[in-house]
Amino acid sequence: MTEKITAVKGMNDVLPKESHLWEWLEGQVRSLMKSYAYQNIRTPIVEPTALFVRGLGEVTDIVEKEMYSFEDRLNGEQLTLRPEATAGVVRSVVENNLLYDAPRRLYYMGPMFRHERPQRGRYRQFHQMGAEAIGFAGPELDAELILMAHALWQQLGLKDVRLELNSLGQPEERAQHRQALIAYLEGHSHMLDEEAKRRLYSNPLRILDTKNPELQTLANEAPRLIDFLGKTSLAHFERLKAILDANAVPYTINPRLVRGMDYYNLSVFEFVTQSLGSQGTICGGGRYDYLVEELGGKSSPAVGWAFGVERVLELIRAQELVQSAHSIDCFALVPDAASFPVVFQAVESLRRLGLKVQMHSPAAANAKTAVEPEQGADHIPPVWEQMGSIKSQFKRADSSGAAYALIFGADELSKGAVTVKALRDGEGAQRIELLKDIAQWGKALQSSLYPNS
Ligand code: ATP
Ligand code: MG
Repeated sequence: MTEKITAVKGMNDVLPKESHLWEWLEGQVRSLMKSYAYQNIRTPIVEPTALFVRGLGEVTDIVEKEMYSFEDRLNGEQLTLRPEATAGVVRSVVENNLLYDAPRRLYYMGPMFRHERPQRGRYRQFHQMGAEAIGFAGPELDAELILMAHALWQQLGLKDVRLELNSLGQPEERAQHRQALIAYLEGHSHMLDEEAKRRLYSNPLRILDTKNPELQTLANEAPRLIDFLGKTSLAHFERLKAILDANAVPYTINPRLVRGMDYYNLSVFEFVTQSLGSQGTICGGGRYDYLVEELGGKSSPAVGWAFGVERVLELIRAQELVQSAHSIDCFALVPDAASFPVVFQAVESLRRLGLKVQMHSPAAANAKTAVEPEQGADHIPPVWEQMGSIKSQFKRADSSGAAYALIFGADELSKGAVTVKALRDGEGAQRIELLKDIAQWGKALQSSLYPNS
């Protein structure tokens, strides 16, 4: 046997036993987005490196050490696998002039790439679902987005999710705070770690966000940005809080919440949980009023968030909010391969009614042991006609989770009929249906299984 090729470290397959949860979550988010009138946008996974350097800021964890950047060896372009989607969405909005007549509410879902140390809740390819409202200045959009995320956690049944909120004010207010902060940190320079020293003049605000426990007290006692905010910034923050209060969305103010990208101003927020250990942030977002202009568009205020799909699914598992796996409705047993033309007609008519139907087919594994027909020995059927015993087919039907087995035996077919056997309701009821009536039978089954569809 040749050597196996394995997946890239930190990049995972989503296998069928998990993927039904992913599909379920995607469905939940799509219907949520529709109810808030957000439209889907799909941007490329690869973007020019400059987009992220300019958009996220040079002195950020992502740009400094987490990006998968490479040179296209065919034309020398500098490219990057997207580490997040906001920059790409804004690029697209500007490039395609999407703001020409009205602001936009957009959402996306898809893979992101960051070269981090893989661990629980932290991967090199991970997935985000996110929403962006572009071209709106008012705090009601910050509130709309937060309410929407809050509604999603409720809809999913998540417990133990807390909202943390802060305001970063405007650039001039940040500049004043920055001066005070640098002065304070210079006064304690002997306590700073390497990273903090490096960021002292380039991005001191990020020092407040440090994960180093030895810097916690220093960060706690540092000048607070919120004390430097002017009237307008404070009013924006107050209005947002008033909407959250009126709608019973609980939050705590975290004056040290700054977030990882440079593009934020005014409101920033995170949804965090205790149930996931140290990777407890499931969703982050905030206002980014200067990014559109920074990326070459007409000045347009905006706000958005993104949540980590793996972390939300982990939370769903941790809290045992089990969703039922995909199941099928009917399993067709086919004793004789020659019946397939008729079997197909029947199962296709059931599928068109919206029923989930699986058809027995011999597994390729049989091919290993099967005797190939020799020339002239035409009484040995080819492997693909060796259907296996009815008993083994029944076993498969049973483990498939189907509600009904449809048995297309020779006897039945000769009378233009099929045997229908209930697999789940104890008594194992069995009866004959005429093939020409199978759609009728299917309709009745469909409306009993899916009364609301
Ligand atoms: P963290 O502080 O955990 O590194 P972050 O601030 O870098 O998070 P954001 O850039 O705000 O994360 O991304 C939004 C969400 O995407 C996070 O809250 C998290 O749920 C998820 N996320 C971020 N990085 C990863 C990763 N490497 N693997 C899995 N999920 C991630
Ligand atoms: Mg990070």
